[in-house]
Amino acid sequence: MDTKTASKYLSVTLQYIFPEICPACGNTFPFGSLLCQNCHTNLYATEILLPCQTCGNLMNDEECQYCKTREVFYSQKCNGGEYSGVRKALFRLAKFNKSRKAVSLLKPFLLSAIEECGTSRNQILLPVPSRHNLVLTMIREWKLIQPDIQIVNAVKKKARKKEQKQKERRDRFAELLGSFTIEKSLSPDKQYIIVDDVATTGATLNEIARTLHEQAGIPRENIRAMSLLQNRQQSGIHQRFL
Ligand SMILES: [Zn+2]
Ligand SMILES: [Zn+2]
Repeated sequence: MDTKTASKYLSVTLQYIFPEICPACGNTFPFGSLLCQNCHTNLYATEILLPCQTCGNLMNDEECQYCKTREVFYSQKCNGGEYSGVRKALFRLAKFNKSRKAVSLLKPFLLSAIEECGTSRNQILLPVPSRHNLVLTMIREWKLIQPDIQIVNAVKKKARKKEQKQKERRDRFAELLGSFTIEKSLSPDKQYIIVDDVATTGATLNEIARTLHEQAGIPRENIRAMSLLQNRQQSGIHQRFL
């Protein structure tokens, strides 16, 4: 028996001796999938969402806390659901632990976000530059559904000096301002979708959209944004980032 097979047998055996701990609720459950039965059921429960018509962020109040003071440079924002509860736990497993099981449980949300964005031949996907590979996984899945879609890695993050970073850390919007650059020539007449894994304030997506608009002359109506999941606005806490 080679090491790989041995470790596989060992992990299967351990699963039977020690029950699994659900990453979403912390309850134990006897061997099975990634989530406990209860969380698995909750995962696909329908939710009532109140997205801002301008930036697509999920609001707690009637008014979007972010759009009060900013201009939004994309025309539509699509997402597969709220970044909370079971989904948040799965997302973290997919992103930081590279769990394939978590990715496959999140797939229905990805598909619904893609569906909301619409699928057409003329679209060009622009992945947000990221150290994590979840954005790339999402792009790959998208390509499987729509093989003729174009993916262009045109957005690059500029390197920042350390002192500059520390100074700007307190203000997310100031930190992002001017931090991206477009490295390929993009036609202003095509349809672009900026793709990120999770959006909180939409600041990254909006800053990339602004860069596309200002550096490549792409009009707002040709830029859309997509994230797999969307964080809900927390009144008060994020206001200082405005
Ligand atoms: Zn659970
Ligand atoms: Zn808004």
